[in-house]
Amino acid sequence: MEKLRYERPVLKKLETNMPNKFGLRTEYVPKTHIDGVAVKDLIKEYGSPLFVISESTIRKTYKDAKKAFTTRYPKVQFAWSYKTNYLGAVCNVFHQEGSWAEVVSGFEYDKAILNGVDGSKIIFNGPDKTEEDLEKAIKNESIIHIDHLDELYSIIELTDKLKKKPKVAIRVNMDTGIYPMWDRFGFNYENGQAWDALNKIMRSDKLELVGLHCHIGTFMLTAQAYGTAAFKMADLALGVKKKYNHDIKYIDMGGGFASKNTLKGSYLPGDDTNPTFDDFAEAITSALINSDFEPDNLPMLVLETGRALIDDAGFLLGTVISNKRSSAGKRTTIIDIGVNILFTSFWYDHKISPAQPFTHYTEDTTLYGPLCMNIDVIRESISLPLLNKGDNFVIHHVGAYNMTQWMQFITLRPKVVMIDEKGKAYVIRENETIERIIAMEKVPDHLKEFEL
Ligand SMILES: *Cc1c(COP(=O)(O)O)cnc(C)c1O
Repeated sequence: MEKLRYERPVLKKLETNMPNKFGLRTEYVPKTHIDGVAVKDLIKEYGSPLFVISESTIRKTYKDAKKAFTTRYPKVQFAWSYKTNYLGAVCNVFHQEGSWAEVVSGFEYDKAILNGVDGSKIIFNGPDKTEEDLEKAIKNESIIHIDHLDELYSIIELTDKLKKKPKVAIRVNMDTGIYPMWDRFGFNYENGQAWDALNKIMRSDKLELVGLHCHIGTFMLTAQAYGTAAFKMADLALGVKKKYNHDIKYIDMGGGFASKNTLKGSYLPGDDTNPTFDDFAEAITSALINSDFEPDNLPMLVLETGRALIDDAGFLLGTVISNKRSSAGKRTTIIDIGVNILFTSFWYDHKISPAQPFTHYTEDTTLYGPLCMNIDVIRESISLPLLNKGDNFVIHHVGAYNMTQWMQFITLRPKVVMIDEKGKAYVIRENETIERIIAMEKVPDHLKEFEL
């Protein structure tokens, strides 16, 4: 028998970061490929850092979500939440799957139109719709979700000018047992604001009230809140039917379903504990089915799920810049991914896997980004095998919000690549260049020259 090689014992210092009774979890499997494409090849070809989106994961996640709802309820329509990820290629995968567009600004509205979405399949949310935005939406027969009374009055005013009967819904906020309550958008259910808006719409006779909308929070960790919300929405719709003999065509339950990410401070990985599409679907559809709607006249159920549909399809590939020890002796690793491109690292403990094989030795590590800023921390504490300069790694579940909330700060934003269902990679967004940034700037003549 060959003599085993001696490896020195390692003293492990306990770092305090929310240990739980199972200890801190370590990722033991390297992530070497995404949909059959080698991570190292992707970085060689497109650079590091690099966002990678898996088309087949989007389609599979979408189909799972759709199935959870359509097996429980007869009429279901998804509307893709643009602000969650409005890259054209990403939106169009959802549109190919049958999703409408859900937008919250004039910019997003125009983007949906440019993507080729028919105006009547665009749901227009948000508190800031300009007169021009509203006019465009009315002409295109889009559905306007009214956020406040000033908007309602603007729309009523526009109807005279445009000679059209706009399709509208109101956004309703309510107490669902989740605090702090999201009550800044729309009209409150409990204090009568929602009824006030509904009465104003029904009595004006200039608008077509087609739906009711709510969006009760984001990254919701309990499905029951949606049951409560759906019950209150049904109550409003039934009230409108009773008072005005008017059918509400759809109830829109917004977005907010949790993805598989792990919120900071959680004891267990989100993968294991967050509610599933089935949990959310069960809560919502049973509330609607058990309400007093006539069984063959149920309103359509609209879902604006964002995060939970795209998070898992997004990966962020990166490279180790250097290793150091903190003053207290803790291992710190500097990587080429900063909080400017990974916004969600502020609230998630992102799962991170090395992209090459490693030994079983792990050490509690702090992962710092490349920015010259103290806040640039990607993971405060993560048990990782030793990564050396030049090693690669993959950050998981980054598809939601990062490619819209990222900012150009200190470094330039990287390319985004999509891998199609056959394993072919396409650049779906180019990296930023200094030329593009400078092209937007103007230096006044008197500031063009200087001597040092
Ligand atoms: C942001 C947003 C969504 C999507 O929310 P997720 O938490 O990403 O699912 C849906 N509807 C509205 C009105 C929103 O503002």
